[in-house]
Amino acid sequence: MSHELIQSNIQQIKEEIGNTHLVVVSKYRSLPELDAVYASGHRDFGENRVQELVDKYEKMPKDIHWHVIGHLQTNKVKYIAPFVHMIHSIDSWKILAKVDSEAKKIERVIPFLFQLHIAQEDSKYGLTTAQLEEILISDEYKKFKNVSCMGLMGMATNTDNLSQVEQEFTHLKSIYESYAESHKWNILSMGMSGDYKLAVACGSSMVRVGSKIFI
Ligand SMILES: *Cc1c(COP(=O)(O)O)cnc(C)c1O
Repeated sequence: MSHELIQSNIQQIKEEIGNTHLVVVSKYRSLPELDAVYASGHRDFGENRVQELVDKYEKMPKDIHWHVIGHLQTNKVKYIAPFVHMIHSIDSWKILAKVDSEAKKIERVIPFLFQLHIAQEDSKYGLTTAQLEEILISDEYKKFKNVSCMGLMGMATNTDNLSQVEQEFTHLKSIYESYAESHKWNILSMGMSGDYKLAVACGSSMVRVGSKIFI
């Protein structure tokens, strides 16, 4: 795929989303495709597999902000801890504790988002609102010094039913709003290729778009 097309797709999406931040989801994409994104001046890339992310990190320029957007396993955290910009997919107490301990070893504070389960599909990862609440009020959570929560991430149901998607985004936005001020959060990561415009209309501050850019 041509550099020009990738770059004009990014330009178009940036115009559509205004002040909302864009993470270009580069999973499964080749290094030349990533080069095209980089050449456009864009620096925020999203990946969902640790091995692929580490390979790309090693081969690409070092001023890229790498976002982990997929489910993370505890035994893989150490490979990304030194360089990851933000983890969008913290979906359990266990993974959060592991990220904190790996970050501590290398004296970093790693920014992250809690991933909430908002879709009707069972297959998607994420915390329930009750599980989120339980973590946020626990004393142990307050003791983590090497992770810093910036907000929430969620994925809507993969459906053509826009009113359902809108309902799910609005729901996530309201949970976000109920904590944002008291916890000093400022990132709500929602919206992908099929639904980013609706996500922005529902108050997203960061969209994660892949296929729409590379198709
Ligand atoms: C793949 C992926 C995206 C991007 O999906 P597209 O439909 O290709 O835009 C966004 N978020 C997550 C968590 C993903 O896994």
